[in-house]
This record gives sequence, C-alpha cells and structure tokens, in this order.
Amino acid sequence: MVGIKMEKNKFDYIIKTENNLWEVVIGLEVHAQVISESKLFSGSPTKFGAKPNTQVSLVDSAFPGMLPVINEYCIKQAIKTGLGLSAKINLLSIFDRKNYFYADLPAGYQISQYKNPIVGEGIVTLDMPYGTKKIGIERLHLEQDAGKSIHDLSPENTFVDLNRSGVALMEIVSKPDLRSPQEVNAYVKKLRTIMRYLGTCDGNMQEGSLRADVNVSVRKIGDKNFGTRCEIKNVNSIKFMELAIESEARRQVELLESGKTLEQETRLFDTKKNETRSMRSKEEAHDYRYFPDPDLLPLKIEQKFIDEIKKNLPELPDEKKERFIKKFKLTPYEANVLVSEIDISNYFEEVIKNADIKLAKNWIMVELFAVLNKKNINIKNSPVSSKDLSSLINTISSGEISGKIAKSVFEIMVETGKDPGKIIKEKGLKQQSDPKEIEKLIIKVLQNNSEKVSEYKSGKEKLYGFFIGEIMKASSGKANPKLVNDILKIKLKK
Ligand code: ADP
Ligand code: MG
Repeated sequence: MVGIKMEKNKFDYIIKTENNLWEVVIGLEVHAQVISESKLFSGSPTKFGAKPNTQVSLVDSAFPGMLPVINEYCIKQAIKTGLGLSAKINLLSIFDRKNYFYADLPAGYQISQYKNPIVGEGIVTLDMPYGTKKIGIERLHLEQDAGKSIHDLSPENTFVDLNRSGVALMEIVSKPDLRSPQEVNAYVKKLRTIMRYLGTCDGNMQEGSLRADVNVSVRKIGDKNFGTRCEIKNVNSIKFMELAIESEARRQVELLESGKTLEQETRLFDTKKNETRSMRSKEEAHDYRYFPDPDLLPLKIEQKFIDEIKKNLPELPDEKKERFIKKFKLTPYEANVLVSEIDISNYFEEVIKNADIKLAKNWIMVELFAVLNKKNINIKNSPVSSKDLSSLINTISSGEISGKIAKSVFEIMVETGKDPGKIIKEKGLKQQSDPKEIEKLIIKVLQNNSEKVSEYKSGKEKLYGFFIGEIMKASSGKANPKLVNDILKIKLKK
C-alpha cells in the first residue's frame, strides 16, 4: 500500500494519499438487547448463560399454530429508550415478517418492524475533544433475536440453541453522521450510558447484549455525495469497530484509487487478520419479502401512555452533566467522567453529601480510579465505600492528617476495608498540629544543620526545601505542613 497515511489531527480523521484527501463516512445499526424478564412475544425467560434450549416455548421454536403475544414491558422499554434519544415516538407502528432461511430461525422469518418503526428520528450528543457533535438517529425498531448455531462443539455437527430465539432487540439506526473511529467509539459509549441510565439495555458487549453492523464508505474531501458503502456485520466490541473501520476505509481508498469500483456488499471483520472480508453481496430489502405479520395487529399507543413514561424518566447523562457543572463547579471534562456511569455519579454524590467537593472529585478520579483500574473492578464493588472515602476526606479537611498521610491510609483502606478513623488511631498517624511541638522540632532540625542554616542566610535559598524535607522526616510525615512552613519562615528570618 503506497503512500496512504492516516492522519488524526484535531478535527478530522483523514486518509491522505499522494494525490487525494479522503474522508470516512460511517452509520451504525446497533442491536441492543432489551432488559426484560421475558421475550418479545412469549413468556419464556431471557437469563444469560442458561443451559441450551431450556428457555424455549412453543412460540420461540415456531410450532405450527402458535401465536405471538406482545410483551407490554418491552414496548415500554423501547419508548423509554426513544425518549432518552429525544426521539419522536410513533403512535402507530407495525410488526412485519422479514423472511429468510437459517437453521437457527425455525419460523423462517424474523418479526421486525420495517416501514413503521415504534421510534422515529432522534439525536445523540457526543463530547469530542474538538467540541460537542450531534449524531442523528434515523429510527429505533423492535425485533426478535434469532437462535444461536454452535459450530465448534463437534467436527461433524452444528448444534442449535434456541434460548435466544425471540428475545427482544432494539435496533437503533444512526444517520451517516459519524466521521471517524473515535466518533464511533464515543457514540456507542454514549448510547450505552443512556440505556444503562434508563435500565433498558445492560450494554454488556461480552454477552452480546450490544452489537453493531457498521456501514462504512469513503469520499474525497469536499465531495457532496456519499460513496458506496459496505456493511460490516455483527461487530461485538468497540475496539473491533474501530479497527474494522480503519481497515475497511483503507481498503476502499486503495480500491478506488486503483480505478476500480466498489460493490455494495456485506462483509465480516476478521479479528485475527485485522481485515474485513466479503460475506455476500448486499441483500436488498425486497429480497426479504417484508409484509405485515398477520398474527399481530398494528401497535397503537396512546399519548397518555407515553406521557406517563416521560414523567417517570430518570435524570439522563446530559442533564446530570449540566447539573454537576452548575451546582458543583466541575469542569465539563470532570463532569463527563463522573456521569459516564450511573454508579460513578451515585458514588460521587454520596461522597459529597458531607465532604469537600474539590477533594472528593480528585480522590475519586485519581486515587480511586487507579485502584479500580488496577484491580479491574466496578465502582459498585469498590473496596472503599463512599462513606469511608468521605470520612477520609474529612480528616484531610479538618487537618487531622495531611494529604500525603491520607494516601497511605487510603492504601490500607483498600487492602483491609477498615475505616480511616480506625487506621489513623491504630497507626498513630494523626497530624501534629500543636505549634509548640512543631517549633521544638524545627529548632532541633536547624540546630543539627547549623552549617546549612548559615549558607541559607548568606543567600542559598534553595536550601528551604531541604529544611522542610528534614522536618517532615523528623516528624515521620505527621507535622502539619502549613504550620511547618509558617514557623520555619519565621525561624530562618532571625
Ligand atoms: P440496511 O437495512 O440496508 O442496512 P438501513 O437504512 O437500515 O439499511 O441502514 C443503513 C445504515 O447505513 C444507516 O446507519 C446509515 O446511516 C448508514 N449509511 C447509509 N448510507 C451510508 C454511506 N454512504 N456511508 C456510510 N454509511 C451509510
Ligand atoms: Mg442493515
């Protein structure tokens, strides 16, 4: 590949070749599994990881004559999600059959929504380093998941597990508004955050609750029209989405620059080779012979029903961020970090119920996050409770211990789960804040270093830090730094 360079400057993701600058255009179809005890059209449970084929009703296995019954809770969840995307909720929507054959689809069709989805256009706001960017949502529709074919259990056979068959999915289709892997990363994370706040999808990508078809095309910078797109199917991690986009965009540029034309097709991302490969030529909607499912009436929703859901909506991440900035004087960056997960924002709000905000945000974002990262655990399972962190912060604010000592107390809290008061007492870490005692300590240190004191007085002011260091050492780090500073200054003047 000659002369192709990816440039990630501040504003654009550009593919630079000898003669051209190319831009990448991306649209996502995200499949989000609805949090619901039972499936979209049957009462079977939806628990993850159950023994194969133990959560399958006659409806899910498509026995002749079985009729689907719509699950009102899933409808509510879709409306909630739509409202979280500031989208239009359609009072009338229609369930269609999308016909295709596959062993894990016993009915021979998937019930989905085609022309009349339950949710229409909406917006997702991204915070990028270069400012906020609004990504359009085309639609959100409800559909059933298919079963799972298992190819790797036996060399001769493929097994089918129908536990997933009929589980409710929301397909959230974005407009082709995304322009880089970074924006896709931010978009998927934002969607996930919104749905987690709402409790409509757990966003667990390892378990397949969130996966996406990634549509990619390229065009020369300045072109008004979009190029031909390829759709990369079923990518189940954000990292893979980013890698797939990079390699697919590069492939398209190379192809176009060598004078060939691009076929619209469906591709797969090979995570081992880090490249996409062709799966099939792009199917057209008419290949699926969509038609309204005769077993299901059109879905009519009353405005009252929507208003009731709207009234009970929790505070959403964007609102919370605004509140944090205004009320707690956080920077947009800090607010973003603290609202990125509802459990983090809850923890933060617990801590600052009775502790200093500035100290709290720093302790959470620096010390606590480092521990959580290292141990690879969620804040929900934090070894330090919000209550204990708040007490620790108060011992700093009140001058009982210094910030430095607090760090070692924190380490012990992480390892033992003990509360800070107990640790400070047991280890005798209380800060020395008696001016008389500190003065004595300083006098002693200065006496022991009388030569350095003379050097200091004759102009070698750099030595100030040395004295501070010696005094702190002599107090085993317990002397109140502010008092040490104040008293030392006076002593050195004389
Ligand atoms: P289909 O069902 O055929 O995949 P949809 O309309 O459901 O079509 O989804 C199309 C997706 O592809 C949307 O997310 C849309 O934003 C995206 N898309 C459409 N045109 C382009 C393009 N030229 N380049 C990249 N993405 C595109
Ligand atoms: Mg598609």
